[in-house]
Amino acid sequence: MMNTVHIDLCPVCSNGGCTETLICKDHLATGELFSIYQCPGCGFAFTQNFPCENEIGKYYDAPEYISHSDTHQGIINSLYHWARKIALKSKTKIASKYSSKNAETLLDIGSGTGYFLQAMRLKKWIVTGIEKSKPTREYAHKKFGLNIQDAEYLFDMPDKIKDVVTMWHVLEHIEKLNETMANLHRILKNDGVLIIALPNKKSADALAYKEEWAAYDVPRHLWHFSPDDFTYFAEKHNFRIEKTKAMYFDPFYIAMLSEKNKGTFAASLVGLIKGTVYFIQSLFSTRRCSSIIYILKKK
Ligand SMILES: [Zn+2]
Repeated sequence: MMNTVHIDLCPVCSNGGCTETLICKDHLATGELFSIYQCPGCGFAFTQNFPCENEIGKYYDAPEYISHSDTHQGIINSLYHWARKIALKSKTKIASKYSSKNAETLLDIGSGTGYFLQAMRLKKWIVTGIEKSKPTREYAHKKFGLNIQDAEYLFDMPDKIKDVVTMWHVLEHIEKLNETMANLHRILKNDGVLIIALPNKKSADALAYKEEWAAYDVPRHLWHFSPDDFTYFAEKHNFRIEKTKAMYFDPFYIAMLSEKNKGTFAASLVGLIKGTVYFIQSLFSTRRCSSIIYILKKK
């Protein structure tokens, strides 16, 4: 019997009336079904009865999850690598632009293979990474000579020592949601900036694909935010949202993946076409975009 985490009270607003809204399939690793519950109070949603921390490993155990691969195969893969390069550049720009004048220290949580940290280090930032996967930490060390810390490091860090903390599609994977957010507030300097990228469950593509939306990604994604409930969550932890930005590649990527999950014929092509429609919608409103970058400052 698998050990799971059952949630009774909404982790964001403590409402007790959360109910099932969707049943999603793990398309990546196991084919198992998981329920998504939604809070009637604040609108926040979460994966119910997700595997506990020491059992979730097998759900990451799929070849596709090595987004760390350096292989180039086919046109989709080339596009993906091209998009990743541009996305990396835009991440470094955002981190520099929204940090305070004399900022020099940056912590990236869920630093993966270390490409972002390395890019920031080349811009003279003093960088630290946290990554819970040991093989991935070792990869970053081998590839870039980065010394990456394990997940517990965040909770042991001193107060107010970082200028910038980034989490690129990471918070939705972390079981200790409130504890993590509280610690982010603690370790940031008073004029520090917190940058969090998250999928958006109210995006045009999410509303169209419903339970087939690839960014539900159960049970790896535990928390499912919209701009409204994330704002509420940020305020609760004494942050204010300074700015939101759309991630323009995500509508394409998520539509392609969602079509593949549905078993659509020529899924990549269909996804690319539909992704273009969702992309155009997100040009008109960040709130419609598949993924959003939130730039937060301490209140
Ligand atoms: Zn709630």
